[in-house]
Amino acid sequence: KAVLELQKLCRTFKQGTDTLHILKESDLIINQGEIVALVGPSGAGKSTLLQTAGLLEKPDTGTIRIGGTDTSKLSDKELTRLRCNHLGFVYQYHHLLPEFSASENIVIPQMINGKSKAEANVRAQELLEAVSLSKRDEHRPAELSGGEQQRIAIARALANKPKLLLADEPTGNLDPVTSDHVFNLLLEEVRKEGLAALIATHNPTLAKRMDRVVKLEDGHLIEQ
Ligand code: ADP
Ligand code: ADP
Repeated sequence: KAVLELQKLCRTFKQGTDTLHILKESDLIINQGEIVALVGPSGAGKSTLLQTAGLLEKPDTGTIRIGGTDTSKLSDKELTRLRCNHLGFVYQYHHLLPEFSASENIVIPQMINGKSKAEANVRAQELLEAVSLSKRDEHRPAELSGGEQQRIAIARALANKPKLLLADEPTGNLDPVTSDHVFNLLLEEVRKEGLAALIATHNPTLAKRMDRVVKLEDGHLIEQ
């Protein structure tokens, strides 16, 4: 069953008098439980593809289906609801809320989605345990190491039980040993929860650990 279907996605950017064709009829299908690596040189458009697939940016033309729903027909409000209910995001930088604790950072997105505080707390504790940070639940992001911050960001992305995880260089800011550890944890959790994932990475060793590798090259997605 397809969780994400991209059909003939096109995206251009104006740069002065030039038009950059970043996505040229890019196609991709990701099925339930499939973990796909997105590789390609810097500037190829990996972030653009993830932002577009994540319904944060609109393509010029082309179709995005999430769980079978054609998103081109949805209002902004419906797009936001689909994004909150079905998608999880992890970025290179954690983007945690600095004035809230690790636990609150996992609780808040659930409460925005309508869960009670008690329910959200149970899920937060479960995820904190999964990323081995139960003892850090009261700490604020600035009191955590880079690897710990990313582990909280991963827990937050999974909080609402998304169907698809989108990650843009999720361990790109970490030293190699920490990166390896955090990446294993991410894959373990994604597999445990049975999610589909699209994960951009520059690291060929990390890419090989995923089920499939697609390369973004000259605006096209090429199965490796
Ligand atoms: P990657 O993630 O593969 O490094 P990006 O998607 O960040 O690539 O960027 C692809 C290209 O598109 C780059 O040349 C970048 O400068 C350009 N680009 C991305 N977003 C915008 C934007 N909002 N406006 C203009 N150009 C952009
Ligand atoms: P990455 O670390 O994946 O290469 P970037 O730093 O290229 O990501 O891009 C980060 C964000 O900035 C993206 O959301 C992208 O759309 C935006 N962006 C990238 N290049 C430009 C640009 N030239 N003009 C405006 N926005 C840009």
